[in-house]
Amino acid sequence: MAEERNVIIIGSGPAGYTAALYLARARLSALMFIGEQWGGQLMLTTEVENYPGFSQGIMGPDLMTEMRKQAERFGTEVVEANVTSVDFSNKPFKIFVGDGEQRKEHQAKTVIISTGARARMLNVGEEKMLGRGVSTCAVCDAPFFKDKVTYTVGGGDAAMEEVLALVKHAKEVTLICRRDEFKASKIMQKRVLEDNKDKVKVLWNTEVKGVKGEGKLEAIVVENKKTGEKQTLSTDGLFLAIGHIPETEIFKEQVELDKKGYLVTHLNSLKSEVAEKVWLEDYPTMTSVDGVFGAGDVVDFRYRQAVTAAGFGCMAALDVERYLTGTSQSW
Ligand SMILES: Cc1cc2nc3c(=O)[nH]c(=O)nc-3n(C[C@H](O)[C@H](O)[C@H](O)COP(=O)(O)OP(=O)(O)OC[C@H]3O[C@@H](n4cnc5c(N)ncnc54)[C@H](O)[C@@H]3O)c2cc1C
Repeated sequence: MAEERNVIIIGSGPAGYTAALYLARARLSALMFIGEQWGGQLMLTTEVENYPGFSQGIMGPDLMTEMRKQAERFGTEVVEANVTSVDFSNKPFKIFVGDGEQRKEHQAKTVIISTGARARMLNVGEEKMLGRGVSTCAVCDAPFFKDKVTYTVGGGDAAMEEVLALVKHAKEVTLICRRDEFKASKIMQKRVLEDNKDKVKVLWNTEVKGVKGEGKLEAIVVENKKTGEKQTLSTDGLFLAIGHIPETEIFKEQVELDKKGYLVTHLNSLKSEVAEKVWLEDYPTMTSVDGVFGAGDVVDFRYRQAVTAAGFGCMAALDVERYLTGTSQSW
């Protein structure tokens, strides 16, 4: 029989480690499945300049190593394995690791899901240049491209927001759109194309087919879909804004997800009947399953920052603490 834990955390980005830290300091140390690729998205980047507390910036992997050490220092038990399935139909909740004969069951009174999201990639070689000229987050990386020539791929509102973040720093931004119109709202298109027309250009009906560069991005190869013409364009930066995929595959049949696969929590269903509950009696980070909580990019399709993910992790931990003990007084 598996030991019943107070809380199991699935996922090890800023959200998971922050939740683990708060719970451990509240004497509710979690068992944490950090995944085979622990540390989350910041393990894929170089310098992080916008995480508070590091005036000179910090390398993404160093920041995540510190977060792991801090969570472990207070007693978090960390397992470097992926959770392969869950059963939230009854309590205690069941969390499984491994498959077939190797499958092992774990049980918990509460679960925090902090499995994050991954940016959609073009898969034309650019994925190997993340943090070396290729970015999926202009808010994070635009200041590194001061007076540089950049390209942004996408055509929705998210792409327009990326361009608006980038245009404050870059010398020029060319949007690459594979269709002959944008999906973005008219107001966002106006902000990008009319209000910034001296800096922003568009390549319509165009796809990125490859990248070039030794160690860092130097050029992209694009193809016009109508004419078939290919060109190699020198650039310092390629920003991808073609969507994110929340890591919720294993939770599909177990908790409510929105149309794009993000976890629905009481916080982001504020317009539903759940919001009628008084906030203080409610658990903003709880999902549709009583006792299962969500934190970070797996819930947050809007801000997607390390600091907001950490903030969500803190909220989830305080909610779990109050759920289990009736009070939360970690600080
Ligand atoms: C290249 C890059 C650069 C970035 N730069 C910045 C920046 O400079 N500043 C900033 O604020 N933000 C930056 N971001 C965004 C930031 O990294 C994310 O917002 C943040 O990491 C989200 O944290 P999270 O804890 O929600 O999830 P993630 O960081 O996505 O971590 C989730 C973790 O859960 C694990 N996991 C998933 N499924 C399972 C499972 N079944 N079992 C066990 N583990 C699982 C994953 O392997 C992963 O390790 C960047 C993102 C990228 C991709």
